[in-house]
Amino acid sequence: MKITCNHCGFSGEINLFDHISFSENAQIETKKCPKCGDMVSISMSEVLEEREKRARELSAEIERKVDEGNTILAKQMIKELAMLNRYLNIEGINYFIKQMKKKMAEHESWGR
Ligand SMILES: [Zn+2]
Repeated sequence: MKITCNHCGFSGEINLFDHISFSENAQIETKKCPKCGDMVSISMSEVLEEREKRARELSAEIERKVDEGNTILAKQMIKELAMLNRYLNIEGINYFIKQMKKKMAEHESWGR
C-alpha cells in the first residue's frame, strides 16, 4: 500500500514510513515521512481494507499457480498471505492455505 506525505508530496510504500504512534482508539496511525520528517496520519480501516484486497488477489493467484503446478511461486505467495493474515485474522484464509498446501503435496507426489 502506498501513502503520500501531504507536506512534501513524497509517495512510497507504507513500510518506508516509520511508526510514531496510534490514536487512543487505535483507528489512526501516525507515521513519519522518510523524506521531510513530517507526520502523516493513516486511517486503520483504510489499511485493513487494502490488506483484505491484497489477500483476495493473492488467494486467486495462489489457486491459479497451484493448478498450474507452479509450486515454487505458490509457496512464496502463501508465505505472504500467511503474513497478511496475521493482521487480518480471517479463519477462511487459514483454511484456504491448508487446502492449498495439501493440494501442492498431491501435485508433488504425482511428479515423482
Ligand atoms: Zn514529506
